[in-house]
Amino acid sequence: MRIVLMGPPGAGKGTQAMRLVAKLGMVHLSSGDIFRAVRVGGSDLGQELAKYMDAGELVPDELVVSIMAQAIAENDAAGGLMLDGFPRTVPQAEALDQQLAAANKPLDAVVVIVAEDDLIVKRITGRRSCPKCGKIFHVNFMPSADGDFCDICSDEKVALVQREDDRENVVRQRLKTYRAQTQPVIDYYRKTGLAMIELDGSGRPEDVTAELMKALQVAGLRN
Ligand code: AMP
Repeated sequence: MRIVLMGPPGAGKGTQAMRLVAKLGMVHLSSGDIFRAVRVGGSDLGQELAKYMDAGELVPDELVVSIMAQAIAENDAAGGLMLDGFPRTVPQAEALDQQLAAANKPLDAVVVIVAEDDLIVKRITGRRSCPKCGKIFHVNFMPSADGDFCDICSDEKVALVQREDDRENVVRQRLKTYRAQTQPVIDYYRKTGLAMIELDGSGRPEDVTAELMKALQVAGLRN
């Protein structure tokens, strides 16, 4: 099964992707995570990506498509693929279609998770992570037992950090970018006749997952 997971930042795509791949044995490819990993290396490419990411803007299509085409080719797992955050523009969607058609492995469904802007801003601006172990926290919804420090790496007192692009002004910009450039991708997929599953992501993560699993079953994509 190959699925594209779409929706505004903070709607819960990453959380649902992790829950789903654990249940369905798929490979999860998040373009944002892949780009952040490239940035850690501090290469020219990493610095180029940082310029756009920290401003809440999209990385140019050519760059995105070349990085993601390689990641998809390297992760062509039998269990399926969950694409999260890619494609985000119509040219990216077209490039993906071409790559998957050439490999005779077309998409099975597009899942769109939505949420209100105010909830999104609250969710994203409260997000913190541990730079050492990667654990994600939320100042209101999932605080660390150790306050501003990671409760896993508690021996070392590792201070939690906020992603540069999780600050409110950048989040608002990311929402604008989503509406202008990514929402048209949903219409693009609607026209292809692919199974479209649209969900409200504002509830509890486990309820959203249950709804999603049920929708996949109704669409005939799982037993
Ligand atoms: P995310 O973690 O998915 O919210 O992505 C973080 C940032 O990475 C975005 O705000 C963009 O700057 C960049 N990015 C991730 N995926 C894409 C994509 N498919 N196209 C363009 N830029 C992207």
